[in-house]
Amino acid sequence: MNIILLGAPGAGKGTQARRLEEEYGLIQISTGDMLRASIKKGEPLGLEAKQLMDKGTLVPDSLIVRMIEERIAEPDCAKGFILDGFPRTVAQAEALDAMLAARGMKLDAVIELVVDEDKLVERVSGRFTCAKCGEGYHDSFKTPQKAGVCDSCGSSEFTRRADDNAETMKARLQAFHDQTAPILPYYETKGALKSIDGMADMDAVYDELVQLLGL
Ligand code: ADP
Ligand code: ADP
Ligand code: ZN
Repeated sequence: MNIILLGAPGAGKGTQARRLEEEYGLIQISTGDMLRASIKKGEPLGLEAKQLMDKGTLVPDSLIVRMIEERIAEPDCAKGFILDGFPRTVAQAEALDAMLAARGMKLDAVIELVVDEDKLVERVSGRFTCAKCGEGYHDSFKTPQKAGVCDSCGSSEFTRRADDNAETMKARLQAFHDQTAPILPYYETKGALKSIDGMADMDAVYDELVQLLGL
């Protein structure tokens, strides 16, 4: 099963994709995580992307499309994948259609997580992640069971994203409205789009997702 999780920054895409990966073996493909990994390794691609990410603007379609093309060609993706943070422009959605068609693959569902803007800012401002295993947390909505220790791997090192601040968030929300929202009608016309109330708690969102996907 190949699906797209759509939603503004902080909507809960990563949280839900990670859980679907754990429970159903679907591969989470997060373009944001891939770009951050590239920055960490000091690759030229990462360097180019970093300046844009720090400002909260999108990186060029060509760069992202190339990255996705390589990723879905890897053998593990044959098990099915969840696209998280891609596509983010109509051009990316079109490029995805073309590359899936060329590989004889298809999308099974496109699901939008709908969350109010105030809540998005609150979620992003309190987000932090285990530096070792990538488990996601939140200062108010999901704290580790034992303070300072990751529930999943026991590490005590956590990171916060440089772009998870109020100012950059403004630009990211603007980019979502201007460049990403237009892909909703793109998938709606194809009859592929479904929406979920992303304001509910994580478990409730997950249950609805699983039900919608018929898993
Ligand atoms: P969030 O899930 O909080 O929206 P991401 O981790 O998906 O954030 O993205 C962080 C940044 O990486 C974006 O603001 C953008 O600069 C860049 N980025 C990630 N995915 C894409 C994409 N598909 N197209 C263009 N830029 C992207
Ligand atoms: P995205 O990948 O869409 O940017 P994340 O999954 O990283 O969003 O979630 C953003 C923040 O909000 C994280 O700190 C996460 O723990 C928290 N979060 C995610 N889903 C929910 C939810 N349904 N209710 C409360 N907090 C949530
Ligand atoms: Zn961990």
